[in-house]
Amino acid sequence: MSNLPDSPPIERSTEGRRAGSGIPPIFVIGVVMTVVVVGGLMLRSTMAKSADVPPPDSAAPFGTASRAIAPTVAPAVSVSPHLGLTGYVWPLSGPTITLPFGPSGWGEFFVDGQRFHDGVDMASACGDNVMAAHDGVVLAAGRQYDDYMGWVGSLAPYYNLLDTKRWWNSLPIVIVIDDGDGYRSIYAHESKVTVAPGQHVTAGQVIGYEGQTGNASGCHVHFGLFSPTERATFELDPAVVKADLMPAEEIARINPLLVLPFRCEFEDMRAVRPVEAAPCPVFTTPSPEAGESPAGASIPGPTTAPTGVGVR
Ligand SMILES: [Zn+2]
Repeated sequence: MSNLPDSPPIERSTEGRRAGSGIPPIFVIGVVMTVVVVGGLMLRSTMAKSADVPPPDSAAPFGTASRAIAPTVAPAVSVSPHLGLTGYVWPLSGPTITLPFGPSGWGEFFVDGQRFHDGVDMASACGDNVMAAHDGVVLAAGRQYDDYMGWVGSLAPYYNLLDTKRWWNSLPIVIVIDDGDGYRSIYAHESKVTVAPGQHVTAGQVIGYEGQTGNASGCHVHFGLFSPTERATFELDPAVVKADLMPAEEIARINPLLVLPFRCEFEDMRAVRPVEAAPCPVFTTPSPEAGESPAGASIPGPTTAPTGVGVR
């Protein structure tokens, strides 16, 4: 997501998804390596011109220490195929993935010329507990979070606009946590937070409640993950940059489904974790009935919110 609320999580990309058992091991390894290589290429292709400039929030309080880059060749089986990140839990209990990470018409960023959603949207029910995905230290909890979101450039013009237009309350409520492993986790659209900046949290601890603050026409959590030391960037929609006076780029995100506990029922997860998906039972996609939403999920329809600052 950008600093502004993102679009409703109703789209699902199905391109390139596969699942099932009986996949030859060599093919699986090939797929893993392809995912790693393509992922690497994707990030490299968006390298910032200002690659030598440290991220603007690198000196922020509670900042993370430098990290060693994990090997890019995946082990045969790993919870996190090429990141070496462990200890993550799901931020919601029993959610539905309503919008995966990656190319999407709902995305506010551009990667390789395609609109791109920079996190995973998941939904269960309004008011459900939102939990820390990893042990860490809270960097932001509320509507003043942008200093910790990895924007590349000054936020002063944008903050001035928010002050002048009195738009602060239109922003989503967001929690940003330093996960202590070189990454930060982002939880957006809460109705309320139960933690404060500087607070230590443990994986699974309640940090807020699922809501729809900002531009979300249904309750969900936009979950994002990035490293402040990452040099690749995602390009913010130039129209948003112009209208909201925002930085043109954010530090590139990674797909959170790479580090969360594997769940076979999510085809998006099987697509990015083919080694673990291989033993899964074969899933068939039921044909959706018109007008029916997944049970237990609050899936909004297409946004009816007006366009403009503070409502994306
Ligand atoms: Zn989102």
